[in-house]
Amino acid sequence: MKAHDAMYIGGEWRPASSTDTIPVINPADEQVIGHVPAGTAEDVDAAVRAARAALPGWAATPPAERGACIAALRDALAARAEEIAATVTAELGAPPRLAATVHAGLPIAVAGSYAELAATHPFEEKVGNSTVYSEPVGVVAAITPWNYPLHQIVAKVAPALAAGCVTVLKPAEDTPLTAQLFAEAVHEAGLPAGVFNLVTGLGPVAGQALAEHPDVDLVSFTGSTAVGRRIGALAGGAVKRVALELGGKSANVILPSADLPKAVAVGIANVMSNSGQTCSAWTRMLVPADRYEEAVALAAEAVAKYVPGERVGPLVNAKQQERVRGYIEKGVEEGARLVAGGPDAPRETGYYVSPTVFADVTPEMTIAQEEIFGPVVSILRYEDEADALAIANGTDYGLAGAVWGEPEAAVAFARRMDTGQVDINGGRFNPLAPFGGYKQSGVGRELGAHGLAEYLQTKSLQF
Ligand code: NAD
Repeated sequence: MKAHDAMYIGGEWRPASSTDTIPVINPADEQVIGHVPAGTAEDVDAAVRAARAALPGWAATPPAERGACIAALRDALAARAEEIAATVTAELGAPPRLAATVHAGLPIAVAGSYAELAATHPFEEKVGNSTVYSEPVGVVAAITPWNYPLHQIVAKVAPALAAGCVTVLKPAEDTPLTAQLFAEAVHEAGLPAGVFNLVTGLGPVAGQALAEHPDVDLVSFTGSTAVGRRIGALAGGAVKRVALELGGKSANVILPSADLPKAVAVGIANVMSNSGQTCSAWTRMLVPADRYEEAVALAAEAVAKYVPGERVGPLVNAKQQERVRGYIEKGVEEGARLVAGGPDAPRETGYYVSPTVFADVTPEMTIAQEEIFGPVVSILRYEDEADALAIANGTDYGLAGAVWGEPEAAVAFARRMDTGQVDINGGRFNPLAPFGGYKQSGVGRELGAHGLAEYLQTKSLQF
């Protein structure tokens, strides 16, 4: 795999300040596939300076021209779609089909949506006797996780650029090669030097230096709750803007009027996709008590199709594999019934976890409360709608969810869920729909016009 031994700063690949490197490992075969530089506070500072220097010119660029630049970036990503998919397969372990459709395809659609939004968004509005301007917040720090390496980058950088902001990216240490490909696409698209900068490195070193940097105006972070809290506290102390996307424990609510076989099969597929490493995954399946055993049998049948090494990839690293296996052990200890899978690794090599389904899960169990981030589904029973709603809303999270049933009843139920996004009878991905959390799932929204608004601040002139 191609790896740069440099940082992308001020429109060029520059040597890193230190010779330390981070190995990149293919989680499917545990082989080292490359090394990237371990950035320091010095690299971060150089990147923030380059971004700051580029801000006045980029902020003053007419929005339609910024949109044209983002369209060129989208085209550069599209031209490299195969290379992106192969890189995501190599560093995340995503099966090739998922890598091509979701990991490479989705960010291209999101970049395209911001090319258009930049050109069409009303950055200036008349309100009574005032003119209200939406102006860029400034220098944006983007700190991203490994689960959707390119999507997480594009979902922050594209709206930031559309808004007229400039960016410094610190990608996850597990998936830096996709981030380097993104930098190459930025370069090819001819974006002005400094509007996008890349510093690879460790979270507690480069990530922390970036989040703390006094010349950063907004930190947009996606990842664990523990780090998110820390970044939120830092931002609060410095009175700077922050956007946090921190994961979830989403409910898949199957109402009595639902098509049960379809709801169960799609629900299982939703969690198994990306080996369960999706913050919005519907990890809690809620089933009416009188259809419970039927749903459990359907789930066991559905999950059997997800063969590790074929339809399901490994987890990203050994730590995540251990963590997820620990949760499966905890589920057994707390009295849940294993219907499929279990804590034993299904393959000797690679960080695989068996696709696992638990029945007889009660709402207070650890596996029904905490984000597992692996191919593990918990099936809970409910007595009536009020009970279902209490269970659905009964965690600290509120990122996503699903409701299946007669459409009017499903919408009425979804409106009472404390969560940011709900798919009705399966839904269909919409790159313009705002995505983000209620409660501890985060602060702020990504995608569409709401995602753009995160990077804007408003000024009004009165006449
Ligand atoms: P993490 O929060 O440690 O890492 C996310 C990003 O933050 C990475 O780029 C990392 O380098 C950086 N980071 C780490 N420490 C930092 C610090 N002190 N200051 C600034 N940046 C820092 O997440 P992880 O350890 O890779 O994953 C752990 C858990 O987080 C997962 O099991 C899952 O539950 C959750 N997670 C959620 C999402 C999501 O999409 N919401 C994505 C990945 C992980």
